[in-house]
Amino acid sequence: MTEHEHVRVAVIGSGFGGLGAAVRLRREGVTDFVVLERAGSVGGTWRDNSYPGCACDVPSHLYSFSFAPNPDWPRAFSGQRHIRAYLEHVADVFHLRRHIRFDSEVKLMTWDAEQLRWEIETSGGRLTADLVVSATGPLSDPRIPDVPGLDSFPGEVFHSARWNHDHDLRGKRVAMVGTGASAIQIVPAIQPQVGRLTLFQRTPPWVLPRVDRAISGAERALHRALPFTTRLRRGLLWGIRELQVQAFTKHPDELNLVEQLAKRNMARAIKDPALRAKLTPDYRIGCKRILLSSEYYPALAKPNVDVVASGLAEVRGSTLVGADGSETEADTIVFGTGFHVTDMPIADRVVGADGRTLAEAWKGGMEALRGASAAGFPNWMTIIGPNTGLGNSSMILMIESQLNYLADFVRQLDVLGGRAALDARPAAVRDWNHRVQERMKRTVWSTGGCTSWYLDDNGRNSTIWPGTTSEFRRATRRVDLAEYEVLRARKKVDA
Ligand SMILES: Cc1cc2nc3c(=O)[nH]c(=O)nc-3n(C[C@H](O)[C@H](O)[C@H](O)COP(=O)(O)OP(=O)(O)OC[C@H]3O[C@@H](n4cnc5c(N)ncnc54)[C@H](O)[C@@H]3O)c2cc1C
Repeated sequence: MTEHEHVRVAVIGSGFGGLGAAVRLRREGVTDFVVLERAGSVGGTWRDNSYPGCACDVPSHLYSFSFAPNPDWPRAFSGQRHIRAYLEHVADVFHLRRHIRFDSEVKLMTWDAEQLRWEIETSGGRLTADLVVSATGPLSDPRIPDVPGLDSFPGEVFHSARWNHDHDLRGKRVAMVGTGASAIQIVPAIQPQVGRLTLFQRTPPWVLPRVDRAISGAERALHRALPFTTRLRRGLLWGIRELQVQAFTKHPDELNLVEQLAKRNMARAIKDPALRAKLTPDYRIGCKRILLSSEYYPALAKPNVDVVASGLAEVRGSTLVGADGSETEADTIVFGTGFHVTDMPIADRVVGADGRTLAEAWKGGMEALRGASAAGFPNWMTIIGPNTGLGNSSMILMIESQLNYLADFVRQLDVLGGRAALDARPAAVRDWNHRVQERMKRTVWSTGGCTSWYLDDNGRNSTIWPGTTSEFRRATRRVDLAEYEVLRARKKVDA
């Protein structure tokens, strides 16, 4: 990167969001852009999460780009290795590598109101850009809770998203902290090799069976020979999930049947009533993310596994103290405790038009117009921004909707010509978020009686989209210029 390089667009991140943005920009005829990536390879989530058992929990044919169908997915729910390879392939076939700057962590972005552009400081140098697309991911910065005494632990400690592959777990006493989507994949994968596994559970999840299977050679050959069959398969997977949305957003009672299925899934494997009681959630299914696993409960029933149903309260050397006072000796602690979601670190690194950071602007909770634009942060868009997450379907659908919005944003800037920028009007942002939050009130995420990572410190759900993916697709088809203030660069008058 040269000292004062200027590009039209700077994309941050090279996961599904950043790579998707890069493909879309090229399709729009924009080639003057860079993708800034702090790591040394593409893949985002699927590069960083290499823990044993890591796989998607939305079927692969839906959890992939519509514009890059993969007839060769090996399983209904493919593993991390294959998803990562898919993203590497996307980077190759769409000629994205020439745009990507690896080992370029964005440290600070400052809006230059005179020049109408972003000044960007990265670990690899400085540059300026007319437009920033922030695709740093909602689940990309691991969160390790501040457990008193953790520093005194003599053994190995790591987060599920930073798995230490050099650390041999065979025969070890391992403590797994957390019971989210990663933990329920890790537990059955490591249980057979560890000496003792203690699961520290603050809240039990609802877990449905995962109907996973290998995709047969014949199916793959069919998908290769007749590409419309891949699209058909994707369409069916999408349609089923689209029909489920009403139950989450309007009629949580309809989820009772699903709750029964989850109870049966547990009862089949967990015969001990005391353990069953520990593992039975006290909130409505769907309130927290519904997890899929056919191996989790059978693993918990194994003799080398204990469940501490009170969470980890303190560490005293190699002794882990549960909130219930129980004591467990451990050699290794694995934190499956999620990510900085509603306090995403990038927000501290963006300084907007009035000198405030995005984190300061979002003190009362994250909000953005159509999940993309924050008021006072002109020509800055986020992919998977506030209220774009899903409880039951593929995030790639939402990412692709946001890419449509990005494409139209670029077109609108072209039409405006000259040096112009678009800044979301505060009233438009407020109105959009008011409508989102009104809809949120009836959803299972608000009424289901749980706390979850969907909620911010104020108890507000600023992560989930309370509607169908097709509603979001319609809402992001075009940029409505009435929702933006058009900024023009002040012309320099020569003396
Ligand atoms: C284990 C796991 C399983 C999941 N399974 C599913 C699933 O089955 N279905 C589903 O829909 N979703 C799933 N998700 C959610 C998943 O995060 C999204 O689907 C999607 O991968 C997000 O893509 P992204 O590009 O927005 O973010 P990411 O994939 O997180 O990529 C963000 C990129 O930005 C880079 N970056 C961050 N900060 C900076 C910076 N300051 N400077 C430069 N680069 C930076 C990161 O290094 C990273 O490469 C899963 C998440 C996890 C963690």
